[in-house]
Amino acid sequence: MSDPRYSVVGSTYPLDSRQLALIELVESLGPRFAERAERYDREASFPHENYADLRAAGLLGLCVPEKFGGRGADLRTYSIVSATLGKYCGATALTYNMHACSMLWPGALSDDLDMTPAQRAEHDRHRAIHYQRVIRDGAIYAQPFSEGSAAAAGRAPFGTTAARVSGGWSINGKKIFASLSGAAHYYGVLCTEAKPELSMRDTLYMAVPGNAPGLSIVGDWDPLGMRGTVSRTLLFKDVFVPDEAQMMPRGIYFQAASRWPHMFTTLSPTYMGIAIAAYEFTVRYLRGEIEGMPPVKRRMYPTKQIAVAEMWVKLEQTRSLFLRMLEDARVDPPKDARLRAYAAQFTIMENASYICGLAIRTCGGQSMLKSLPLERLYRDSRCGSLMLPWTAELCLDRIGREALYEPGESDD
Ligand SMILES: Cc1cc2nc3c(=O)[nH]c(=O)nc-3n(C[C@H](O)[C@H](O)[C@H](O)COP(=O)(O)OP(=O)(O)OC[C@H]3O[C@@H](n4cnc5c(N)ncnc54)[C@H](O)[C@@H]3O)c2cc1C
Repeated sequence: MSDPRYSVVGSTYPLDSRQLALIELVESLGPRFAERAERYDREASFPHENYADLRAAGLLGLCVPEKFGGRGADLRTYSIVSATLGKYCGATALTYNMHACSMLWPGALSDDLDMTPAQRAEHDRHRAIHYQRVIRDGAIYAQPFSEGSAAAAGRAPFGTTAARVSGGWSINGKKIFASLSGAAHYYGVLCTEAKPELSMRDTLYMAVPGNAPGLSIVGDWDPLGMRGTVSRTLLFKDVFVPDEAQMMPRGIYFQAASRWPHMFTTLSPTYMGIAIAAYEFTVRYLRGEIEGMPPVKRRMYPTKQIAVAEMWVKLEQTRSLFLRMLEDARVDPPKDARLRAYAAQFTIMENASYICGLAIRTCGGQSMLKSLPLERLYRDSRCGSLMLPWTAELCLDRIGREALYEPGESDD
């Protein structure tokens, strides 16, 4: 039996002692998360109990810098932790992404960006407030960006606006697919500073309290997969937030989005975890080792062996690109690393879905019963390539364009 701490990265991968300790911690919570996953999925309800466990384990502060009392995880460590969670409960891992990256972006990632000394000082003051809420009060942050327009794809300004008012900002607009709706204490909203002409350069990143007057949550939530994310619609009507609601100084989100592209890869570890779970389930199923099922072995059939081999090849291709992407992650990556990040995101999202499909075909009819996790993994995995800004389609779009055109080039 191989060391479960290496089930995401593969044995021989160099993990440091802090990463190993974090993985051990998540592995110790995982079986409970896996047990609860069926109920959250069936009810399309938020994994509150899992969040209580994450809070008690100090994992809400994973990406909070150490100087603010957190564990100071960088993108690579976050991604390995997130993939480990993804093996047990996709919806918990995906929502945890929204929270953890709400900490990472104003943290380690912002430290790499250019700011004036005044901006840096202001940012330190503001982020200290956000981090204290998480570390001291156990607050959860969400990341509702999508609006059903080209904005979340990074192709147009957000239609949700923030107008300057005395002592702060007034927010108006709408966000769709707001994971953690009703569960988050703060919604980290991307909006555009209200000016006669809206510009992507004026994107603001504001934390709106869940109980702010003028904020309402509408619509139902009954999707194919990732049902526990509870991603409903948020409406903002003259919602006031004070200046310290800013999670990044004015103009800095725009800089981050162009200079730190790997910030958009953070959804993919969830799906890496799902792919690993589907593979590991298939091996146990064919060996007759699934708890609660008759110990019937199916591993002796050559077709099953071939199918498992194909799954392993796909999984290793996916994992290799995943790990390489994590090594590449930095501010101002070279062009090939940026293109590789798109390729990695595309590969993880598409292959997770493919591997889950293969797992069901290989294990057979009983494996798709709701009493087993495989059909949930299959449905959850289908959601990955739909997630903006780097959907599978947009990854191809970006690779094709950026491979053939240098910045500023056109055919006119
Ligand atoms: C389970 C789940 C949880 C989610 N949670 C969150 C969340 O917490 N926060 C959040 O902000 N969003 C979240 N989303 C939303 C997600 O990121 C996308 O915004 C959403 O799936 C887009 O749906 P749509 O129908 O509006 O797609 P559309 O915008 O209509 O896009 C459809 C497809 O067209 C392509 N496309 C879109 N825009 C362009 C363009 N400009 N150029 C070329 N092609 C384009 C893309 O490939 C896309 O897949 C979640 C989605 C799911 C499924």
